[in-house]
Amino acid sequence: MNLDAPLESIKGVGEKTAEQLRAAGLLTVRDLISFLPRKYEDFSEVVKIANIKPGMRTIRAKCEKIETKRVRRGMTVTTATLVDASGKLRAVWFNQPYRVKQLQSTDEEFFFSGTFEFSYNRFQLSSPSAEKVSEVPVSTDRIVPVYRAVKGLKSHLVRKLLVQLRPYMEVLKDPMPEAIIRRQKLRSFSQAVVALHFPEDNDDIRRGRERLGFDELFQLLLAAQLNKRSNSELQGWKIPFNKQAVQQFVAELPFALTDAQRRSAWEVVQDFERETPMNRLLQGDVGSGKTIVALLCMLIVKDNGFQSCIMAPTEILAQQHYASISEALGENSNIKVAFLSGSVKNKARSIILEELASGATDIIIGTHALIEPTVKFHNLGLTIVDEQHRFGVAQRAAIWQKGQHLMPHVLVMTATPIPRTLAMTIYGDLDVSVIDELPPGRKEIKTMHFYDSGRPRLIEFLHKEIANGRQVYIVYPLIEESEKLDLQSLQNGYEQLLTYFPPPQFQISVVHGRMKAADKDWEMQRFIKKETQIMVATTVIEVGVNVPNASVMVIENTERFGLSQLHQLRGRVGRGAKQSYCILMSDYKISKEGKERIHTMVRTNNGFEIAEADLKQRGPGDLQGTQQSGILDFRLLNIGKDSAIIETARQIAMRIIDRDPQLEMDVHYQLKLH
Ligand code: ADP
Ligand code: MG
Repeated sequence: MNLDAPLESIKGVGEKTAEQLRAAGLLTVRDLISFLPRKYEDFSEVVKIANIKPGMRTIRAKCEKIETKRVRRGMTVTTATLVDASGKLRAVWFNQPYRVKQLQSTDEEFFFSGTFEFSYNRFQLSSPSAEKVSEVPVSTDRIVPVYRAVKGLKSHLVRKLLVQLRPYMEVLKDPMPEAIIRRQKLRSFSQAVVALHFPEDNDDIRRGRERLGFDELFQLLLAAQLNKRSNSELQGWKIPFNKQAVQQFVAELPFALTDAQRRSAWEVVQDFERETPMNRLLQGDVGSGKTIVALLCMLIVKDNGFQSCIMAPTEILAQQHYASISEALGENSNIKVAFLSGSVKNKARSIILEELASGATDIIIGTHALIEPTVKFHNLGLTIVDEQHRFGVAQRAAIWQKGQHLMPHVLVMTATPIPRTLAMTIYGDLDVSVIDELPPGRKEIKTMHFYDSGRPRLIEFLHKEIANGRQVYIVYPLIEESEKLDLQSLQNGYEQLLTYFPPPQFQISVVHGRMKAADKDWEMQRFIKKETQIMVATTVIEVGVNVPNASVMVIENTERFGLSQLHQLRGRVGRGAKQSYCILMSDYKISKEGKERIHTMVRTNNGFEIAEADLKQRGPGDLQGTQQSGILDFRLLNIGKDSAIIETARQIAMRIIDRDPQLEMDVHYQLKLH
């Protein structure tokens, strides 16, 4: 049985089906087997019609009567009367006229699985799947797996094919050494895959997820450890520390560095003096002062005659770095700073490239444009990547290749607080420095929760702040699947605001993801320049916008945001000396989890506490949770609840690599192929 066989080679997969599967990214038997269910619907219990209660139900019955009606253009309703020994039941399907052919004039028994509910003034079984009792059940009479509908892919089709592929699953080789599986009391790989596609009970699902989740985690940790090993074999520039130069710069700063800033800078300095290139993560909450630390590092690099670059994920962020670094350096600095992004063109661009290649430029700040092949450095000693999770691993690798002779040192800065255990996993190949205190004298942002009924009070408050010269953000959620709907709510919100804050006295910026980059930029610039008092936005402003004069962050439909996202958003205010506020708006009717998130936000400003709470709340398969952060992409394990397993898996990965660095031993060979 060949796992790499194309799906066309399976019985029943013709040209059209293959095309559908291909569109969903499923090409081979292996692909389909690895396509795990999104959730399950329990239709395993068969009930008598006389005893049926509302909910997802399965009955075993014959079809007594069935007919289809066209109710209006493009809409048919098919109704049937189903009977078993205990009674009769009405079933209804919309736009499934083929049910007539499937069910009429046959005396056979079927399983019907659907939702029994009260609808249009009577009880009915809505849109049930129907399968002959004499055949292998696919979508009835079992715990039915539901698969992601990628490009309209039907779950029923996936299930049907997987029934055929079950023999393949039963003989899958285990990629993990047997000893580990035994010690961790995990299911075998094959058992886990079968259990997830054909669960007999909830325990199957739990144990299957546990095993494959372990593999997912283990692979990540193993890759990180391997990466770390190979890094340690690279040559980097040795950059000695000139105490005097740094002390002078620090003395001239308008403030004293915090202990955490000092410690982080010191950790970097020590890395610089090694033979191997630094690969370090600098983690610090919004406003903790990462930029100064970065600048200190660049000064040391410059002092040794090397160049540095900072790469930011957006043009606006890059510009802000450029402005704040130029300002911190002062006018008479002998350090030449340049800016490069896609919007720098023609003559200006070629001058910048020339000065970079000749070594005239000491520090260059920019966007992805920095990794284009035409960008050549004279001697790149340090690369700083800001807000790293927006950059793919590939981009990080590309910037590395900019080192002309030796590898540049790499410092990755992120404001996303990551609990330690998780940082070890995701950034297992990086050393970590943490700035865990804010500069003194910052006013805590006051966070409040208003129900929608409190809106008049909100408007009054905003008027007061604006009258005092402050600016306000109002943010709407944007969730991919319902993008249209959310734009609508932003639009409505904007129109309502116009009545409370009428032009020309008041001006409002609007920014959302569907806008062209140039328009977005223009609207943001108006806000930065204080030409507008209010910025209405979707989450596009989440990362890094710095407008110290903005003092209020209003978040609409708060319950729809994840915790780390809320924290990021709140970090957009509280950047100036004035008291700032974060106001969380919500409906009365919100989920328990939504309420908990709001309480956490009101209770604490501490990013690490919030990150821990966030992890605890998320369960496996929580897609909303994964989408918001972009890094916590574990669908199977509940990392928050299973954090012990991370440490165990990491130790195992380290032990394996210690014993067998190239993964050449027979027991480890499969790990390599994975
Ligand atoms: P972030 O970590 O979010 O990038 P920044 O580096 O932008 O934070 O710093 C936020 C603000 O705090 C800046 O205006 C910066 O000048 C100021 N700042 C940084 N370090 C200190 C410090 N030790 N004391 C006082 N203010 C500081
Ligand atoms: Mg910053």
